[in-house]
Amino acid sequence: MLTKTQQKKYLPVLLDILEKLGVKLGRMGEAVLLGEVDAADADGEDGGGQSYSREMQIGLLENEEFILKAVRAAVKRIELGTFGSCQACDELIPPRRLEVLPYTSFCLACQKKLEKGEFEE
Ligand SMILES: [Zn+2]
Repeated sequence: MLTKTQQKKYLPVLLDILEKLGVKLGRMGEAVLLGEVDAADADGEDGGGQSYSREMQIGLLENEEFILKAVRAAVKRIELGTFGSCQACDELIPPRRLEVLPYTSFCLACQKKLEKGEFEE
């Protein structure tokens, strides 16, 4: 499981997606935002890299509503401290995947199973 600090690094990214979707930050996002997000930013690991934005925007156009739900759920997971772990198998979701799809709930293997409809509890 990712540490709180590791998880919170993704919060600005998630909130940014919400903003792009035209969502005003709800209580949930604001509450987390007012927490230790600045401290997480200060470690400078962001480096201004925005390589994810292109894929993200394509995704946004495709299924905005799904993503909106997923982002809210991801913010919630940061609050709960479970962000970054696959919701199906509990494995860590690789950081590279989280960079492209920070709101994903599943690791690639589980996502594929899900898409093929062969998912089992
Ligand atoms: Zn999984």
